[in-house]
Amino acid sequence: MFSEEEIQKIRNQFPILNEKVYSNPLVYIDNAATTQKPLQVIQATQNYYSIMNANVHRGLHYLSQKATIQVENTRKKIQKFIHAKYSSEIVFTKGTTESINLVACSISSLIGKGDEIIISCSEHHSNIVPWQILCEKKGAILKIIPIDENGFFQLKSFEFLISRKTKIVSISHISNVLGIINPIKYIIDKSHEYGALVLIDGAQVPSNLDLNMQDLNTDFYVFSAHKMYGPTGIGVLYGKKEILETISPYQFGGEMIENVSFEKTTYSDLPFKFEAGTPNIEGIIVWGSAIDFVEKIGISNIQSYKEKLLSYAIQSLSSIDGIQLYGETKDFSQKSSIISFNLNKLHCFDVGSVLDRLGISVRTGHLCAQPLMNFFKVSGMVRASFSVYNTFKEIDCLFEGLLKAKKLLLKY
Ligand SMILES: *Cc1c(COP(=O)(O)O)cnc(C)c1O
Repeated sequence: MFSEEEIQKIRNQFPILNEKVYSNPLVYIDNAATTQKPLQVIQATQNYYSIMNANVHRGLHYLSQKATIQVENTRKKIQKFIHAKYSSEIVFTKGTTESINLVACSISSLIGKGDEIIISCSEHHSNIVPWQILCEKKGAILKIIPIDENGFFQLKSFEFLISRKTKIVSISHISNVLGIINPIKYIIDKSHEYGALVLIDGAQVPSNLDLNMQDLNTDFYVFSAHKMYGPTGIGVLYGKKEILETISPYQFGGEMIENVSFEKTTYSDLPFKFEAGTPNIEGIIVWGSAIDFVEKIGISNIQSYKEKLLSYAIQSLSSIDGIQLYGETKDFSQKSSIISFNLNKLHCFDVGSVLDRLGISVRTGHLCAQPLMNFFKVSGMVRASFSVYNTFKEIDCLFEGLLKAKKLLLKY
């Protein structure tokens, strides 16, 4: 647990937190959409363009080598960060969405008519649509793990859905709407019993939970830099080496080839086989600084502080008359610091607009999970999601803001 002083020290590293919104202090609690960036990340961007900008992996000249070393350093940092066996299992992509599309495309030759793909009811659109399209193309069938009234997977139904026809199971580690930490270890082991591959959408996870690919034994794990204090436009596909080696590339062109002639082209080794074209060099290198930031504070420290914020926020918000919280549980070890809710049948956009006027940034709408909205029979929700730089005082601001919203909006 951090002291107030320590939190202030962390906050001082985020210049944007000093911004005013309509002359109120900014209360940024939309961290499940993207986190703010600390000074060392901002400075790393400037540093990259000031002293090492060059294309990577191709040049033998000084700058190119310098940039290449830094890119490969970040790859190794990520390998260590998620305890992958080899750095060649780390493929750089644009982010979670591209990583899932890559896998859906690259494994398509393994999917035939009548085969099945399993996802869950609480997935982000990024982990629905690529599978839906793959099923359409191949005549495969998309099966959905149902959830209970609080948003937890119904595991008995999953056991009923999984079979030898299942080719891949793709689920989120943490729901971006409910904050629920899904029982992925169980799902991974069960899926493997039936010979199915498993992809875990970990977009909400890094910097919130310790990750160990070798313990998890998942086939694929994907996440983005921008939700863990790093830049946008860069993310990772982790894949087991023996699987990445057998599936086909996703895009074709420079960097991913070994030898090209008009008769035949052979591909590079991992991970380059999946990294066609000039990568987001700046993004990769700067991401390294974001990982340094997270590791300096320590994931377990971030985790326990955010758990305190969550418990305080749930206590505070659930005391509001007429609030409906989604994804409720008493066991905070099953939930990350994301709270979605609706207030007295008010439209989430109206509530969000009142909060915005008060300087409070929350996410409103379908939260990229329309099937989940349908499940709860709502058109949208308001989502507050906390980060290591948020404070109990900011949660009080949210509480007061919601009371104000009720007062203003319930008149109409
Ligand atoms: C944010 C998010 C995504 C999409 O990530 P991008 O960085 O936009 O590609 C996918 N799944 C979950 C659970 C998310 O939270």
